[in-house]
Amino acid sequence: MYAFEYHRPSSIKEAASLARKLADAKLIAGGQSMVPALKLRLARPTAMIDLNDLPELRGISVVGTNVVIGALTRHAEVAASKDVLMTLPVLAKVAAGIGDHQVRNMGTLGGAIANNDPAADYPAALLGLGATVTTNKRDIPADKFFTGMYETALKPGEIIASVSFPMAKRAAYIKFRNPASRFALVGVFVSETAGNVRVAVTGAAPCVFRVKNMEKALASKFAPEAIARIRVPADNLNSDLHAGAEYRSHLITVLAQRAVEAALSGK
Ligand SMILES: Cc1cc2nc3c(=O)[nH]c(=O)nc-3n(C[C@H](O)[C@H](O)[C@H](O)COP(=O)(O)OP(=O)(O)OC[C@H]3O[C@@H](n4cnc5c(N)ncnc54)[C@H](O)[C@@H]3O)c2cc1C
Repeated sequence: MYAFEYHRPSSIKEAASLARKLADAKLIAGGQSMVPALKLRLARPTAMIDLNDLPELRGISVVGTNVVIGALTRHAEVAASKDVLMTLPVLAKVAAGIGDHQVRNMGTLGGAIANNDPAADYPAALLGLGATVTTNKRDIPADKFFTGMYETALKPGEIIASVSFPMAKRAAYIKFRNPASRFALVGVFVSETAGNVRVAVTGAAPCVFRVKNMEKALASKFAPEAIARIRVPADNLNSDLHAGAEYRSHLITVLAQRAVEAALSGK
């Protein structure tokens, strides 16, 4: 680890002002991705801005037909939230399936989506529900937020404040997990919200993506057989020591059908 300054602001305004003033500063929330990057010397910030004292970034609330979750909310809090379990249980399931106890007790929603790991679970939930990310500067629809591998639409120093998730008529997330890390080898999120069907895939490509031809087929008939023959071409999918691109392509179709089945049965 290289040496750096440590700052612990007490408001978003102060955090944003520090981020503007300090060149090469990095934000830190749960530290589950940032600390390993520091330890491995993959990141060399001159200063760390710790977001953990910002009450504005905490909390879960139901606002109309949306569930709004503060960026600093831990995965374990989302998994156990009565509001989430009652209004959008699929999100509690997504959070409960992330990593292990330590990761869930420390990792945050904001950190997970800002990091945009190609195999992370929350990006699939945001894209699969058509959520909106609110930062200290603007609202960003999920469709425009995830821009590439470990890349997002966030500008340097921009701070995620919360995410607003529309409630779904039905939704499910199925992931085929890597047994060692528990990250998704492939994960598929399917939802139907006010007649609008979305299918989002994580783990299969450099960045989370939607499968529009599956969405169209499911909008006509929300049933597993409607997508049984739809394959995402392997050409642009990831191939690594865990799985080849052809296998990942196969998994997308299988998991998407299972997700539709689960959404229909409410499990
Ligand atoms: C062993 C292990 C297993 C894991 N398994 C899974 C898994 O199965 N599924 C999964 O999805 N994830 C998994 N993760 C990742 C985990 O979900 C992390 O919590 C997440 O990637 C980062 O969240 P964090 O709060 O720890 O962020 P940090 O590590 O603190 O920060 C990560 C990045 O986000 C930025 N950031 C943090 N908060 C904000 C904010 N509010 N606004 C703007 N930028 C911000 C930081 O600057 C940094 O660039 C795993 C991690 C580990 C270590």
